[in-house]
Amino acid sequence: MKKVTSLKDSVRFLPGVGEKRAETLKTLGIETIEDLLTYYPFRYEDIQEKQLAELSDQEKVVLKGVVLSDPAVSHFGYRKSRLTFRMMQEQAVILVTFFNQPYLKEQIRETAEIAVYGKWDAKRQALTGIKILSAASDEDFSPIYHVNKQIRQGTLVKLIRVAFDTYGDAITEILPQPLLEQYHLIDRKQAMWQMHFPETKEDNQKSRERLIFEEFFLFQMSMQQLRYRDKKEQPGLKIAYDLNRLKTFIQQLPFELTDAQKRVTNEICRDLLSPFHMQRLLQGDVGSGKTIVAAIVLYATKTAGFQGALMVPTEILAEQHMASLTELFDPLEVKIALLTGSTKAKERRLILEELETGELDIVVGTHALIQEQVTFQNLGLVITDEQHRFGVNQRQQLRQKGQNPDVLFMTATPIPRTLAITAFGEMDVSIIDELPAGRIPIETRWIRKKQLPQVLTWMEKELSQNRQAYVICPLIEESETLDLQNSLAVYQDFKQHFEPAYQVGLLHGKMKPQEKEDIMEAYKKQEIQILVSTTVIEVGVNVPNATMMLIIDAHRFGLAQLHQLRGRVGRGSHASYCLLVADPKNDTGKERMKIMTETTDGFVLSQKDLEMRGPGEFFGAKQSGLPEFKVGDILANQDILEQARKEAILLWSIPHWWQDSLYLPLATQLKDRQEAFQNLD
Ligand code: ADP
Ligand code: MG
Repeated sequence: MKKVTSLKDSVRFLPGVGEKRAETLKTLGIETIEDLLTYYPFRYEDIQEKQLAELSDQEKVVLKGVVLSDPAVSHFGYRKSRLTFRMMQEQAVILVTFFNQPYLKEQIRETAEIAVYGKWDAKRQALTGIKILSAASDEDFSPIYHVNKQIRQGTLVKLIRVAFDTYGDAITEILPQPLLEQYHLIDRKQAMWQMHFPETKEDNQKSRERLIFEEFFLFQMSMQQLRYRDKKEQPGLKIAYDLNRLKTFIQQLPFELTDAQKRVTNEICRDLLSPFHMQRLLQGDVGSGKTIVAAIVLYATKTAGFQGALMVPTEILAEQHMASLTELFDPLEVKIALLTGSTKAKERRLILEELETGELDIVVGTHALIQEQVTFQNLGLVITDEQHRFGVNQRQQLRQKGQNPDVLFMTATPIPRTLAITAFGEMDVSIIDELPAGRIPIETRWIRKKQLPQVLTWMEKELSQNRQAYVICPLIEESETLDLQNSLAVYQDFKQHFEPAYQVGLLHGKMKPQEKEDIMEAYKKQEIQILVSTTVIEVGVNVPNATMMLIIDAHRFGLAQLHQLRGRVGRGSHASYCLLVADPKNDTGKERMKIMTETTDGFVLSQKDLEMRGPGEFFGAKQSGLPEFKVGDILANQDILEQARKEAILLWSIPHWWQDSLYLPLATQLKDRQEAFQNLD
């Protein structure tokens, strides 16, 4: 057998693990010793001591009592045995039987107190023992693992025990001593042991805390490493913009920037000027005015002689941004172009050429823009808008374009801090926490389906005052076809009700880009008064004259999404209404509707959304940015997450910390995890 060396060894090195068992373990994701040792129980069964009268048949319980007789062991069959003894609990005598655990005999002595965990047989007034607990403890709890048909809990536990026996010495401390002391964290090996073999709840809790800290800390260390390399190592671009021209531009805007807009613009401009690479996340609620900030910094980039790119997730948004940027830049000498999937071949060739020669200053397009074979003359700034489904890898990929351009991410929905520092842990964050003055708050009401006739009358009133309305159709998950049928049906209903007095249009995901564009154009020009749509209009669409939004079956949407949708109205100077039509069957649905009517603060809503749906759901199924944690839960363990992040940032602020012997085990651990780390020294 191989000499015991590393936790990275295959489980095959364990006695009792052959090829077949190794295959079975692999189905649980266990390949190495480390995988096995960190295959933690997904829950613990709480074992409470109970009285006989409270028990039901076949219930698992702990019974405490005094042993009345020394145990008798009898053998039968092939290596089978039965151990029995009598136990006195209160006034009752109970027969206890353990199968195939003859060695327990040593632990059971007449007149001694004992606590047995087992299954209660009500008819026989007997207990089939599972394990003996130390009589001293008031409670005990048993780990439960995720297993499958090929492997049983018991087998797994046995293997874990063997792994500890043979490889225990290889489990070394990796967290620096000062951190262990500061946060009262227990030793790594002990923590790992107590996850599997806890004696008390408290021990287990301590273990969990320690391992969660370790997990979050290592993760934050690698995020900060990316940031460190951006800031200290990799030369970025120094975008020396023309401050005077920038000021002139800002002064001639049709409105005064909010304080928050000014603050974040300064933060971004400081990054542009610095020779280091920028990775910044710009957060702001719907309607807080992120677009204008983007325009300002794109213009700044241009005045420094660099090119800029603005990327958005949909063609509609690209069109819209193109329109607003063209208008904003009208008095200036800025050459801007739109590049999407539907740009005609000839025009496309021209744009690509002009990007390469540097004749074009700014290009607006869908995300495909950055992935395609687009060559820039000197790309200085990339902005991505309304996009949070962008993993850390893709973000790193963006940097490959041009000479390491600065990168600004703008999010459509505020992201709760816990998620932001996890999914975007390597970035600096700017927050617009203020809406432009003079906005009339949107009034949100929750109504039942049967009230729909009154709602239609209300809508008619709005339309008669030359306002416009959106009608959002329910999303039927995983079925675009059903979605379509559904929106078609709603469309027909509204057409019947409102035409010819008012025109009704339909917008859905299956339409061609040109068709969508035509519909949006008609809506903007008020040729259409009611736009029936699926969630394709969710992000960014800006038609200030629309003052009413009707969301059908609103309880099917997440809070963040509802908030996004609601943000399509209330963009002009008229009072706006958001009507949530919903008859939710469960409490979650009801609570969602209630919260929506109570607040319009996107940060509050996204936090609630996170709490109600969990981190995985928050970003949607396709989200790739969130790492998976084994023990940590970024919601439940928010405090630990913050501590770990703080410490990681602090450590990276120490120059060459990884050469300090105090941190060597940690440095090695990180190096193992990430090739990139090697580039450090
Ligand atoms: P979002 O942050 O949702 O992308 P937008 O950039 O689309 O918001 O801005 C929403 C609306 O507010 C736009 O019509 C924009 O012109 C307007 N706006 C932006 N900043 C201000 C401001 N400081 N004062 C008044 N209106 C503003
Ligand atoms: Mg926007």
